Amino acid sequence: MQSTPFDPHAYGGVRYEHLAPDIVNIAMSRPAVRNAQDMEMTYALNAAFDRAAQDDAVKVIILSGDGDHFSAGHDMGGDRSRTWRDFRTVGTWAAFDGPGVEGLYGREKEIYLEMCERWRNLSKPTIAAVQGSCVAGGLMLAWCCDMIVAADNARFRDPTLEFGVAGVEFFMHPWELGTRKAKEWLMTADWLAAEEARQCGMVNQVVPVADLMASALALAKKIADKGSFVLKAVKESVNHAQDVGARRNAMMHAFGLHQLSHHHNKQQWGMLVDPNGIHPALREKIRVRFNLPALPGREPATTA
Ligand code: ZN
Repeated sequence: MQSTPFDPHAYGGVRYEHLAPDIVNIAMSRPAVRNAQDMEMTYALNAAFDRAAQDDAVKVIILSGDGDHFSAGHDMGGDRSRTWRDFRTVGTWAAFDGPGVEGLYGREKEIYLEMCERWRNLSKPTIAAVQGSCVAGGLMLAWCCDMIVAADNARFRDPTLEFGVAGVEFFMHPWELGTRKAKEWLMTADWLAAEEARQCGMVNQVVPVADLMASALALAKKIADKGSFVLKAVKESVNHAQDVGARRNAMMHAFGLHQLSHHHNKQQWGMLVDPNGIHPALREKIRVRFNLPALPGREPATTA
């Protein structure tokens, strides 16, 4: 396995390695925090995707997570003193620290919604290799890939409704699961097991956890065998077929309601999420981060 140090912009949290001359693995490498995605990891992922897109030798891209879990979602512990001005933004809204709703809207639009849309539309085929827990923002990372290979221990969950937020920012639930299952899954905030996710069409393959990377690589090799232009063309064709159903417009509407739910919580609780639904340990982390007084909260029905 040829491993290349990845540091194009001094961003961290991601490893970039060739599994074959034409296949790259972009690995989230913060296993100690279950690959929680902070701003630095977001821009590192974006730089890695760009690098793979711009390398003519690369045909297929795998996105994986080091350790026992693919992703715990967005890092609620903060951005380790980094601000948006430390990174090369890809959109034009900027002003993540703007007043009123301007800051949060601009930040979440850039680093969650539009970044995932950008990766979804990346020209080359992408495969997510998912093991363990894939939660909230982690779903967005798996969903923006063209295919998902899941380990038999993989499980998926969007817990946002428990803390007063109307689903994750990249609102693909209805397209991934169908409308009825999406409603049940969101409203119960239950786990979705790998095999059930496969039956719903969200996951392509379920494989033994020990075989996860080998299975993703075997799929990538089969695809890499095809011509690079027809791969790009067929990917764009399928993406456009999905968009004929107004996916993008529906998603922008959902994003507006997501922002509204954040600000509803802000009015209700003085913070962007409802602290009642947050695990006590995480609640304390958020309280410290935002310098808030003691927060109300009950024991959550489920834990993330
Ligand atoms: Zn949000």
